[in-house]
Amino acid sequence: MHVGVLALQGAFREHIVTLESLGVHATAIRIPSQLAELNGLVIPGGESTAIARLMVSYGFYEPIRQHHDAGLAVWGTCAGAILIAREILDAVPGQESLGIMDITVRRNAFGRQVDSFEADLDFAHLEDGPFRGVFIRAPWIEELGPDVEPLASHDGRVVAARQGDLMATAFHPELTGDPRVHRFFVEQVVAS
Ligand code: GLN
Repeated sequence: MHVGVLALQGAFREHIVTLESLGVHATAIRIPSQLAELNGLVIPGGESTAIARLMVSYGFYEPIRQHHDAGLAVWGTCAGAILIAREILDAVPGQESLGIMDITVRRNAFGRQVDSFEADLDFAHLEDGPFRGVFIRAPWIEELGPDVEPLASHDGRVVAARQGDLMATAFHPELTGDPRVHRFFVEQVVAS
């Protein structure tokens, strides 16, 4: 089991620490050739426009799409959720997504009301009570394709979803010290 965390910008170290706490071999991914060794890939939160620019510079778009087609499980948190979506609303002009998950996300969606907040979430399939969601200029998932399962909502908005071996979370599970969402992803990787 080897999970990579895209380490171009944003909160990638915290994902690596949380995955390692679960006994998973976790690596910072900085060049596309590293993708070949992986069973799963986490695209972290940060600034999706900055990550997108760096993904173009380093040539990550096609390799991630191809490895995902060949069985690489992918989880996007916050900016990462924006980057895996089929469609981005309120994108900056020219901002491209990987388009691998059949969701439409709206950037900075909660930000119009309040920039950052925390909320207890009822996260499907997780035991031992609510999961504390840390939202930082978070998107929400506005549309879900027929094969997408919503996993958690806040204020009537979907903030976590999965589609086969793809998962999107609008919040930051790597910042809570609670490894349950990471364990859930690793279980998807094993099952896929
Ligand atoms: N608002 C950021 C963006 O559009 C995402 C914020 C985050 O990842 N915490 O990329």
